[in-house]
Amino acid sequence: METYKCPVCGNTDINSIGYLNGEPYCRKCISFNGENAKERKIKKGTITFDLKYKLSKEQSEISKQVIENYKNGINTLINAVCGSGKTELVYGVIAHALSTGQQVGFAVPRRDVAYELYLRIKSVFTSNKVILVCGGHHKELEGDVIVLTTHQLYRYNNYFSLLILDEIDAFPYQGNDVLNEMFQRAVKKNYVMMSATPSNQVLQRFLEQNHNILYLNRRYHGHKLPVPKFVRCFGLAMRIELIKILKKYVQQQKPIFVFVPTIELCEYLYSKIKDKVHGGYFVHSKCHDRAKRIQDFRDGVYSYLITTAVLERGVTVKDLQVIIYEADHHLYDESTLVQISGRVGRKLDAPEGEVIFLGSKETRAITNAIKQIKDKNASV
Ligand SMILES: [Zn+2]
Repeated sequence: METYKCPVCGNTDINSIGYLNGEPYCRKCISFNGENAKERKIKKGTITFDLKYKLSKEQSEISKQVIENYKNGINTLINAVCGSGKTELVYGVIAHALSTGQQVGFAVPRRDVAYELYLRIKSVFTSNKVILVCGGHHKELEGDVIVLTTHQLYRYNNYFSLLILDEIDAFPYQGNDVLNEMFQRAVKKNYVMMSATPSNQVLQRFLEQNHNILYLNRRYHGHKLPVPKFVRCFGLAMRIELIKILKKYVQQQKPIFVFVPTIELCEYLYSKIKDKVHGGYFVHSKCHDRAKRIQDFRDGVYSYLITTAVLERGVTVKDLQVIIYEADHHLYDESTLVQISGRVGRKLDAPEGEVIFLGSKETRAITNAIKQIKDKNASV
């Protein structure tokens, strides 16, 4: 039997190749089917983009370097702390690519993040056609800048002269070979990857392949990252500690996220504390009205929200305080703890806040997350 290589994901493993009427098909990426994008000519010319504020000195140095790398055919990894203004760092290279008539794509693993990103890019590149392609939203596949989820990359084989991928360490992209392969196949010229918490594996690969890594350890507003405080407690004492802290913040009228490792614990904890601390609610990935619960929280309807991984990334709430309940749970690895801590102090007019880890033991992930944040603060 001759070897079959899947045209979508590059799979050659015979164990995941099936046959239908004698024709081979790939089981690895069978769920990725649909229309492919057509080639489209992009008009060359000067690009004006509407940056909402001036880049800091560090931001504009990195922005320039990304453009330089792109011109020289070098791939870039931007390792920038949470709240550093990562997205703004690639506006320059997007404008450069567009002005020379090159196709741009901007991918993220999660759909709700893709939507927010689309609105942002559209409001900046007002004279270009910016489109969104994600699950349930793929009637139109061609534009100057295509904002998409990594799941939609299969439609764009050898397509993007410039492909940007943010949140490279996020589920479901991280560790997913099929998505990774589809990303590589979608790149025609060069890519830029971004993360606040890239894995050592990714950093290693970039170094080995002679790509360029750019670091930004200062937040855009110049204030340091909040350093989490670990409080050792367990069982009922953890709940009592949580109630005590919640009451303090509620009295100070500060909004609070309480992160918990599982959906079961999310609902259980809420049932146990709702009569002790009033005005809160919960949200997790199985809540069908989760967008509304989050919006209500933003609008000040709830004083606190007990939540799972759904609010771990991409959310900015002014003056937010964060508590992680059972922070010693095995689901909380170093980068997740750093990401969650990065929700705090993101606004220029509220650049500080508290992050509290409650746990019965200080895990290696907890120790390393706190150390990583302290090290980044010390380097600026
Ligand atoms: Zn395949």
